[in-house]
Amino acid sequence: MAEPLKILFLSAEVAPFAKTGGLGDIGGSLPKALRALGHDVRVMMPAYKNIESGYPGVESIPIRLDVPTNFGDIPAGVFQGTLPDSDVPVYFVAEWHLFNRPTLYGYWDDPYRFAFFSRAALELTVKLNWKPDVLHAHDWHTAPAITWLSTAGQGYEHFRGIPSVFTIHNLAHQGKVNWEIFDYLGIQTHSLVEEAYGEVNFMARGIYHATMVNTVSPTYAREITTKEGGAGMDALLRHRQYDLHGILNGLDYDAWNPAVDKRLAASFSVDDMNGRLHNRRVLQERSNLPVRDDIPIVAMVSRLDWQKGLDITGHVIHLLMNGFSGEAQFIVLGTGEHHYEQMFAQLAGYHHGKMAAFLDYNAGFAPLIYGGSDIFIMPSLFEPCGLGQMIAMRYGSVPVVRATGGLADTVQDTINGFTFQDYSTDAFWNALQRAIYIYNVDKKSWQAIQRNGMLADFSWEKSGLGYQQVYEWALARAASGG
Ligand code: ADP
Repeated sequence: MAEPLKILFLSAEVAPFAKTGGLGDIGGSLPKALRALGHDVRVMMPAYKNIESGYPGVESIPIRLDVPTNFGDIPAGVFQGTLPDSDVPVYFVAEWHLFNRPTLYGYWDDPYRFAFFSRAALELTVKLNWKPDVLHAHDWHTAPAITWLSTAGQGYEHFRGIPSVFTIHNLAHQGKVNWEIFDYLGIQTHSLVEEAYGEVNFMARGIYHATMVNTVSPTYAREITTKEGGAGMDALLRHRQYDLHGILNGLDYDAWNPAVDKRLAASFSVDDMNGRLHNRRVLQERSNLPVRDDIPIVAMVSRLDWQKGLDITGHVIHLLMNGFSGEAQFIVLGTGEHHYEQMFAQLAGYHHGKMAAFLDYNAGFAPLIYGGSDIFIMPSLFEPCGLGQMIAMRYGSVPVVRATGGLADTVQDTINGFTFQDYSTDAFWNALQRAIYIYNVDKKSWQAIQRNGMLADFSWEKSGLGYQQVYEWALARAASGG
């Protein structure tokens, strides 16, 4: 085993305490995987409203932080808990005015809220008398910790020489704010090309100052170095390309396991697929579709957002429902942008008896769709990692995906799913037709593809080893004075 490391893990979201998306999933799962590898990982996040109002197992601890700012030292309290089913400590930085609000984000002072949190978290390591070997910060919210560490922080013995890893989950949110935030944090530095005059861009700062940078899939790591995929950060990412890595997110195998998932109508596994047929029938019943074992069920579970490829989906569903690839059923579960909801509502009305559209968020129903459908579509325009295709595979629904980002890294054409390249209706339809053809005429190949998907290893153990490697590279860089 590698040397145990002291890892300071900062994130604005850590499931189950706070989650709006994949960032929260990683915050809750990766530290446990690192702990299992023997590391001393400590998670820090803000104390949001649910923590301030009392969260089971989370206690206030007798530490008072005095967080230095240009308005003087600002006091903050600390709560402590652990990640569920683990001994990984989670520290919550409590500042009532900044974090005790109805939602996690969406306030004019978000950059100040997370800059304060970042600085406070570093201060907390001093109070705990715990000098981390490596700082691991996620997305723009905690990038201020990396910036401070690599600038002002170098003046303090406690922080000197600590390398940092910055993980990009969503390049679209960059955390732009007025330059005065550097006065607030006591940072003196030059501006970056990516920053407009008088502006700080924390996403750019994280990429620029971190010892190592990574994102959540190898293909997305390459795509963001291009003008099309770089959201204005591509030149900076190319500049750092030798320190930029892609590590696929893991899937929480405890939460997503068809052998024990209580939300399914019947459990099943790769060696016992009988339960799957039952799920299929229950899914058809619940969707008000004819219960038939002889035609494919195509499905989608997704946020209805432009990123998800919905602009090339409508026409494909129309062709599918009109029988251009033989008889089929289609079920969608999703909510989001109004015009996409309308698109599915209209298609469902038109293709009554063949299609069902559930336009809401329903975590209890989603597993039945994964565990009862035959084909799962994910035609994303871009996809940093994507969990949907991994869940689908584990639940025996064969994915048809656009080969972008994490989809390209997890789905291999005709091995464990079907892929297409062009972002076009034609390419998507072609891939879906190929899948349906094999489903209809070559059951043996179909079962092999399904089985390959069910047996794929998307575990956090694997991802944890990837992060361990990146930490080691960061430490080696720091040791060589770089
Ligand atoms: P993203 O994080 O961009 O939304 P992912 O594929 O990484 O996409 O993760 C999507 C997750 O959200 C999956 O677990 C999926 O099952 C779930 N999900 C998306 N939409 C819904 C919905 N309407 N109801 C239930 N679960 C949903």
